[in-house]
Amino acid sequence: MIVSFDLDDVIFNMRPLTLEAFKRAGLPFVKQTSWNIDEIFPKKLCDNLIDLWASDMLYTMPVLDKQMPYILNNLMAQPGVDVLFVTERRLKQPEKTFRQLRNAGINCSYAQVYDQEGLKSDILREIGPDIHFDDSPNVIQGCLTKSVPVVMISNNSTLYNHHLRGVVKYYTNLRTALNKEVLNKIR
Ligand SMILES: [Mg+2]
Repeated sequence: MIVSFDLDDVIFNMRPLTLEAFKRAGLPFVKQTSWNIDEIFPKKLCDNLIDLWASDMLYTMPVLDKQMPYILNNLMAQPGVDVLFVTERRLKQPEKTFRQLRNAGINCSYAQVYDQEGLKSDILREIGPDIHFDDSPNVIQGCLTKSVPVVMISNNSTLYNHHLRGVVKYYTNLRTALNKEVLNKIR
């Protein structure tokens, strides 16, 4: 069984980076309601977000759920389960993403980390996971089109994906999603 995970806003908490972008722009924080930030945010804020996404700050993000490294390490120890981390970051630096995962206590190998050029839903179709967890509306729609089994993480911090709640299975957090969709099925 191959189980794959997006990182940002699924495992890692992007809020500190977003708050920093607002702070640098001198603007009060508002939640992201659309995936197309240039449609909803002033240009100086978008520029800050893009700069920060390309900075080392991305690689020291805290996890959303302090238990998640332990849960993922247990999952990786299950016989017959392959865990992969598939991210689509602006800078293609899988070695940094690998270091971020290890720093967070997730004991993966470098070979489990995908951060490469190309459309993520195409990469996922190649990998062929039995289930993939993501929050990006573009990735989810791509997976639905390409028959990649996908589950959405959707909560009060991901207003940009609520319009897909009617077309894809979703959970408000990864821990519940993993329990229901993976752990209950392999126990
Ligand atoms: Mg994400």
